[in-house]
Amino acid sequence: MIEAIAALVGLLVIGAWLLLHHREPERDSRSRIVRRIDEILPQTQCQQCGYGGCLPYAQAILSGNAPIDQCPPGGPVVKRSLAELLGQSNIARLRLSDSEAVDQIVVIDESTCIGCTKCIQACPVDAIVGATKQMHTVIADHCTGCELCIPPCPVDCIDIVRLEPGLERWRWSMPTHLGSERRNHPRI
Ligand code: SF4
Ligand code: SF4
Ligand code: SF4
Repeated sequence: MIEAIAALVGLLVIGAWLLLHHREPERDSRSRIVRRIDEILPQTQCQQCGYGGCLPYAQAILSGNAPIDQCPPGGPVVKRSLAELLGQSNIARLRLSDSEAVDQIVVIDESTCIGCTKCIQACPVDAIVGATKQMHTVIADHCTGCELCIPPCPVDCIDIVRLEPGLERWRWSMPTHLGSERRNHPRI
């Protein structure tokens, strides 16, 4: 009788050990992917995505509770990187991202700028250049139009510029049917 109980306890312990070690690699790989998603996000912790910060948003993306296009500071660049990282299941989202374009950017009135650098610190995509007490400039091609640099400016010299569609910003829409090559190589 005692041997039977000991054998049963032994089996239970082995079962619990197997269960635990079977789940650990899965947990490890999930946290690795969350970390990689988080590294792509701009880390402003601005909560415009509707989550408490970049990490909770990254966790929600991986759990399938949030789409990849909820981060205004990151704009299309972040969306495309997330689509590439997350692979084939997000090809449809990649198509949406590619057909989108930034519809506004900001410009700095250089004659009013006092060179305080506050806008540089606020920009999540390094789209502003300048040095302390020197005039600052926005690199138009990098700006996602997120407006995060506007509130910190003490002299209110950053303005929004709406962009009109033009030939230089035109993109063909992706075909709705994506061939196997495209599915296997999202950059093609
Ligand atoms: S909107 Fe983007 S930058 Fe802001 S907290 Fe969410 S993920 Fe981070
Ligand atoms: S320059 Fe301003 S609006 Fe443009 S990406 Fe940076 S913070 Fe956003
Ligand atoms: S926050 Fe305003 S004043 Fe300060 S550097 Fe940027 S544009 Fe210039």
